[in-house]
Parts: sequence; structure tokens; C-alpha cells
Amino acid sequence: MKQEVSVCWLRRDLRLFDNTALYHALNSKYPVLIFFIFDSDILDKLLDKKDRRVVFIHRNLHMLNDIAVKYGSYICVLHDQPTKAFNQICEQFEVKEVYANHDYEPYAITRDSQITAFLNSRGIKFATFKDQVIFEKAEVMKSDGTPYTVFTPYSKIWKNKYRSEELKNYPSEKLLNNLFRSAIKAIPSLTDIGFEDFELEVTPNIINEDIIKNYHLTRNAPSVNGTSYISVHLRFGTVSIRQLVVLANRVNETWLNELIWREFFMMILFNFPGVVNHSFKKKYDKIKWRNNETEFFLWCKGETGYPLVDAGMRQLNETGWMHNRVRLVVASFLCKHLLIDWRWGEAYFGQKLLDYDLSSNNGNWQWASGSGCDSAPYFRIFNPTEQTKKFDPKLDYIKAWIKDFNPHYLTPIVDHNFARKRALEVYKTSLTENEQQNVD
Ligand SMILES: Cc1cc2nc3c(=O)[nH]c(=O)nc-3n(C[C@H](O)[C@H](O)[C@H](O)COP(=O)(O)OP(=O)(O)OC[C@H]3O[C@@H](n4cnc5c(N)ncnc54)[C@H](O)[C@@H]3O)c2cc1C
Repeated sequence: MKQEVSVCWLRRDLRLFDNTALYHALNSKYPVLIFFIFDSDILDKLLDKKDRRVVFIHRNLHMLNDIAVKYGSYICVLHDQPTKAFNQICEQFEVKEVYANHDYEPYAITRDSQITAFLNSRGIKFATFKDQVIFEKAEVMKSDGTPYTVFTPYSKIWKNKYRSEELKNYPSEKLLNNLFRSAIKAIPSLTDIGFEDFELEVTPNIINEDIIKNYHLTRNAPSVNGTSYISVHLRFGTVSIRQLVVLANRVNETWLNELIWREFFMMILFNFPGVVNHSFKKKYDKIKWRNNETEFFLWCKGETGYPLVDAGMRQLNETGWMHNRVRLVVASFLCKHLLIDWRWGEAYFGQKLLDYDLSSNNGNWQWASGSGCDSAPYFRIFNPTEQTKKFDPKLDYIKAWIKDFNPHYLTPIVDHNFARKRALEVYKTSLTENEQQNVD
């Protein structure tokens, strides 16, 4: 006789507290097996086998396993394609029900429908829940039932709805006695799954309330410890968004707005999945990018000769994180000054960011290039020198990341005024040419 279990499938919700799917699983009739798949379909596409995200996930699985062990259980981790991994689990156990939290990325939606079909063919229920956002999919819509494409009215409705509804809690941490009990099974090592292990410095998943109190004053200064550094934890669900929003709502409206931007872009990705490969504003797909590879590599390495841009890229390359103000400057520089397709920059961030999240990354890149929903108009072009005067006047951030900095450390790869004029001309011509084509 195989052991009957409910399976809780963790994906981007790597925590045992306030976890919706886990809470429901632990309330089911069966002992709960917590399951994680190192998805070979995803991992095989990562060409660099020294990947911060994989290490982060691996570390966190060990931490969760340590907790599960205290309850006589373990986290079952497999490295395989999801359907094959479920097949293995079904061979080993009498799986009665599977629980998971929603994931809104196109790949995840396809994967989940394949798993639904697989489980249903075996008569197993697959129950999924909202967990990584406060409002999902079509929960905040315009009065005509269509999705918002502008942030301010979306955030207004979001806040009204949040403040008028009672927020549910899912104290899964109180039910861990209902975990399936068994001898421990080892988690595959990073080498087992084809990756390199290395020291990874990550800020803890703890919020400093004093920073949040002053967030509106400090958030734009990249040399100051003035933001939450919580993005990686939001990405992998090592914090609960419900708990963060309670804090934001109590302490700082500006910070709350940032958490809402995150949901706005998730809602956009879910309702307009075409943004993954195309401009949200279709005519921006006609921009005649220069796409000069040499300039792109200089940008990647942080060798453009623009100190704020270079400091940002070096921070990204060394740590996997970059301050938001600087992300905006480097993205604008790539699209406008160098006229390189935003998708190239998006992909580079996608390789390097520890907090890489398809919806936020795509939404912000499209915002910077002018092609996104609610973007600044294309003719607003950041001047990196003015941005430095405003946000890093003492050059503290620049000096922290460009070790050999002096004002002439590199000759700028392009003159600002020339590049600005060129960008305006190329954007204007490409966009109006396209308008004429539409009229024809
Ligand atoms: C070109 C570009 C690419 C980006 N790519 C990503 C990405 O892949 N993943 C990612 O999480 N963020 C991305 N951001 C948004 C933002 O830069 C980071 O969320 C933020 O810098 C993370 O630091 P923090 O946790 O200290 O943020 P805080 O300033 O403390 O903000 C708190 C949280 O709010 C959310 N948030 C803040 N700003 C934004 C924003 N502009 N858009 C969406 N959510 C936001 C994040 O979840 C963040 O952790 C990108 C921004 C730009 C301009």
C-alpha cells in the first residue's frame, strides 16, 4: 500500500509561514508532502552554470528542510521536467490532492495546464490559490471590465479595494504538525543539478521599519541605505506580500505605491502576455535601433565613460542588484543614447539580476524605452550627468563601484547632446513613418 498524501508544490513561494497553498494543503484530510522541482526545462536554458538565483533557491530549500525536519518531515526535491517529476511522485505515493499558488508568467501558465491535465487524468485534484499578490488577474479592472493600462487610476482602485476588504491570513506555520512524517531524503546538491556552488551575499528577509518610514526621502539616493532590499525575497516568496502590505499601509504610502507597481506589472503581463516579445505600444516595434554590438558590450561591462551608468552596471555584475534610480538611468542610456533595442537590455538584466522577475523587468524596460503602458513620453531623455548631480552629488555611489574613478577614467562612448538629438530624430521618424503606414 502506498502512503496517501496531499502534495504542496512550492514554486515562487519558498516559505512555510503565511503560505496560502500550504495552509489549504495542511487543512486537507491527508498528511502533506512538500514538493519542489528544479525544472530542467528552465535550468537547461541557463547557459551560465554559476547562477545566483539557483544558489538562492537551493539555500532556501535547505532552510525549509531544516524546519520540516523538526516536524519529522522533509522537503521532497526532484530535478526533472515537471510532468516527469509528478510521475515519479505518483509512483512513490498515493497522491490524493495537489496544492500550489498561482504563477502569472506565460511559461508557468502553460506548465500548470499540463500538470492539471496530467493530474486530472489520474483523478487527482489540483487546487491553486492567489498568494504572491494582493489582487490578481482581473480583480482590479476599469468599470467597463477592461484592464487598467495606467498606473495612477489602477493604484487608486487597488487601495480603495484593499482598505475596504478584510485581508485574510493563512497561518500555515501553525499547522506544520500535519506534515507527512518520514525518514529524511537528501536534497540534490547544486553539482547534482549541473550548477556551481559559491558564496552568495543576500540581505535578510527582514524589513527595517525606520528605512520604510523615511523611504520617500531616501529612495532616490543610490549611495544611501534607503530602500528595503526586499525584491529578491518578493521574487521567490521568502516573504509574504500580505505582511509587507500591512506594514506599507501603516507606515509609508510611497513604499506602498512601489508594491502596487509590482502588482500592476504582473497584472499587465497576465492580461497582455504579448509584451514578452513585443512593445506594449505596437508602433514602438518599428523603432530603427542601431544595435551596435561593441557599444552593447561596453554598456554591459560598465565602460561607457558615463560614471553613473558604469557604476550601476558594475554593481549589477558584482552583486546581482542595482539601485532603482540607477536602473532607470542605465536603461534609458541603452535605449536612447545608444539606440539599442530594450529587449537586449532586458535580457542582460534577466541573466544578472538576483531579483529578476519577468513582469517587473519587462514593464520597467518598456517604460524606459517609451514603448510600455504608462511610459514617460519618448522625448524625455535622462541626462546621466544631471542625474548624478541630483542623486549622487558627492559621487559616493560612483566611487563605491568604480574603484579607479577619476573624472577622466574613460572617454564617453558618445556625446550626450549628439546622442539626445539622434534619439529624438530616430524615434520621431520611426513613429511617424509607422503612423503613415497605419493610415495607408
Ligand atoms: C530597467 C529596470 C528593470 C527592473 N527589473 C526588475 C526586476 O527584474 N525585478 C524586480 O523585482 N524589480 C525590478 N525593477 C524595479 C526596481 O528597480 C526594484 O524592484 C528595486 O530596485 C528593488 O529594490 P528594493 O527591494 O530595495 O526596492 P524598494 O524600493 O524598497 O521597493 C519595494 C518593492 O517594491 C517593488 N518595486 C519597487 N520599484 C518597482 C518598480 N519600478 N517596478 C515594479 N516593482 C517595484 C519591488 O518588489 C521592491 O522590492 C526594475 C527597474 C528598472 C528601472
